[in-house]
Amino acid sequence: MMKFEGKTAVVTGGSRGIGRAVCLELAAGGANVVLCYAGNEAAAQETVQAVEALGTKALAVRCDVSDAVQVDALVKSAVEVFGRIDILVNNAGITRDNLLMRMSEADFDAVVAANLKGAFLCMKAASRLMLKQRYGRIVNLSSVVGLRGNAGQVNYAASKAGVIGMTKSLAKELASRGVTVNAVAPGFIETDMTAALSEAARSAAQGSIPMGRLGGPEDVARAVGFLASDDAAYVTGQVLAVDGGMAM
Ligand code: NAP
Repeated sequence: MMKFEGKTAVVTGGSRGIGRAVCLELAAGGANVVLCYAGNEAAAQETVQAVEALGTKALAVRCDVSDAVQVDALVKSAVEVFGRIDILVNNAGITRDNLLMRMSEADFDAVVAANLKGAFLCMKAASRLMLKQRYGRIVNLSSVVGLRGNAGQVNYAASKAGVIGMTKSLAKELASRGVTVNAVAPGFIETDMTAALSEAARSAAQGSIPMGRLGGPEDVARAVGFLASDDAAYVTGQVLAVDGGMAM
């Protein structure tokens, strides 16, 4: 039997980057996948096709994770189509970088809303079902920046450190009910999010990685797949760094 056979996964921000790789990792293990995206319909449909090519079913739902009404509709669609939610991966995220003195209140609010409140809303909506099922796996995307901080990312660091606090708190709330809650903290991963950085910033980042290379989305997806699987049944409230040794 495949690792995720008969399971349904909801992956936020599954249209691109790490989220897309997570959709494929879970689908390769046999999961049906509901992915949400902010606005990039073409990328979302491409992920749907890539998942279906692996032999499972996929559904793309446009949903801003910072909006409670849209999140409830996302969860409702997943249940209508697949009957249950076994795995939730809170991956949707944005950056709006600037030094504190130049950071607008709007940029602070937007990042916290998408990265932190979005995970809160999705966990609230999905954990209701998971409690009834007495089974669930929640994996949240934090960041090395949430562990170590980074100049120019006060908003992003706050959101990603918040994700860790939220992960540990909910892990304690749900531990006795068959639901695990863990986080992964990626380092520097090659996606659209990091593509905008200058060559100088990239090589500086590379120099700070003991393994000497940037990560790929699949590096993160495999760690998420582990935490979402029954191999990690006795693991909860943990933060797994996937960063080539960056945060040691
Ligand atoms: P990405 O390539 O920029 O993709 C972001 C994804 O999130 C897209 O699918 C996007 O949808 C979706 N999204 C953004 N805002 C959303 C919202 N409000 N509601 C729903 N979906 C939303 O990002 P990535 O690099 O793969 O990062 C994925 C996660 O890993 C993020 O949480 C990020 O903070 C974290 N992370 C990344 C790195 C890295 O180096 N890349 C390192 C540490 C942590 P559209 O396609 O529709 O825009």
